[in-house]
Amino acid sequence: MISVEEAQRLVVEQASSLPPRAVPLEESLGLILAEAVASDVDSPPHDKAMVDGYAIRTADLANGAARLAIIEEVMAGDVPLRMLGRGEATRIMTGSPIPTGCDAVVMFERTDVVDVAGDALGTVVIRDAPMRPGANILKQGCSMRRGDVALEAGCEIRPIEIGLLAEMGRSTVETMPRPRVAILSTGNELVPPEQVPARGQIRNSNGPLLAAAVARAGGIAEPLGICRDESPALRGVISAGLRSNILVLSGGVSAGVLDLVPAVLSELGVRCVFHKVRLKPGKPLWFGVYCAGAANCLVFGLPGNPVSSLVCFELFVRPVMARLAGRMDIFPPRKQALLSRAFTHRGDRPTYHPAHLADDEGGVHVDPLKWHGSADLRALAAANALIHFASGDRQWMPGESLDVLPL
Ligand code: AMP
Ligand code: MG
Repeated sequence: MISVEEAQRLVVEQASSLPPRAVPLEESLGLILAEAVASDVDSPPHDKAMVDGYAIRTADLANGAARLAIIEEVMAGDVPLRMLGRGEATRIMTGSPIPTGCDAVVMFERTDVVDVAGDALGTVVIRDAPMRPGANILKQGCSMRRGDVALEAGCEIRPIEIGLLAEMGRSTVETMPRPRVAILSTGNELVPPEQVPARGQIRNSNGPLLAAAVARAGGIAEPLGICRDESPALRGVISAGLRSNILVLSGGVSAGVLDLVPAVLSELGVRCVFHKVRLKPGKPLWFGVYCAGAANCLVFGLPGNPVSSLVCFELFVRPVMARLAGRMDIFPPRKQALLSRAFTHRGDRPTYHPAHLADDEGGVHVDPLKWHGSADLRALAAANALIHFASGDRQWMPGESLDVLPL
């Protein structure tokens, strides 16, 4: 049986990023930018006032004081029409282009206006405002010049990038698409959540769980519902799922009589890369690749128990989705945390045990939760992490440092 690390390497080896696509800016949030973007404007586009106040010539100030005739008023969106001469000022609002001749802006708080009569704009009296040339003026192009590449391919598009792209004049951008992930739950015992299970039946929790995990990982979930453990039915619905970028099946990959998934997958031409990983929960994991021309479909057969499905999703499916979506850091960052209480781990496989991670005084602590194994999804409601215990029997003491995978 191969190790988790080897399985991750094999999975990622089969994954390459999807072809980029142009999308409207408002649909690009969370995607990876697939082009370098240059600005078509200077930012700011003109020398602009950084405060509401008066555009002046510093040469007119004596010890920070002056009386200046107000010759014009420039509101946001206006352009000054008059050049400042000696002894003159222009009333100006934040962001407006400064008039020719002006070399500083005095904020309103340092001024009074007198001599206002009729249409006259009056005189501004400036007190206690010693200023150097350039004060309160933002120079044209100081943050970005036309033609500057302000965003490189490969960056994640956050609200900040959306704003910057808009400023640079982009209403569509080349991005890496979200991977489409088909999800199929297999098992004769499964019923949908709205149905009360009869004896022997259980509700399909994996389908909704995996669809939500796909959405949270930035993919498009394509639910295919429940399929019975019957080869012809499996063939039909799996064929449909192979049209997605990734097909995630749950159930039917263990050693049971009706675990038909691996056989049906190979009949359909899906090449098995590995089956079974030294891992708990999640040992029966099956992974293969289907090639149809240029388009590949990566196929994961996850074990049916919900916690096994979730652990395999986190360790294998999520990184592959990240790779398809053009991300660089595809493995979720691990943390080191201090065990909060003594805990005995037994087993010949590395185990991912549900746990609660808390950042308190004295460091990051992790508490292993009471857990009844891979069918016990309920215990995970209190979990925000999985502790990684190495294989072998060992008693761990409080304060020992362990590797943790945050959920
Ligand atoms: P299997 O991998 O098909 O042998 O299933 C292992 C266990 O997981 C069985 O107890 C199944 O009933 C259970 N199981 C399988 N599929 C699901 C599902 N979609 N939701 C919840 N439990 C499941
Ligand atoms: Mg089954």
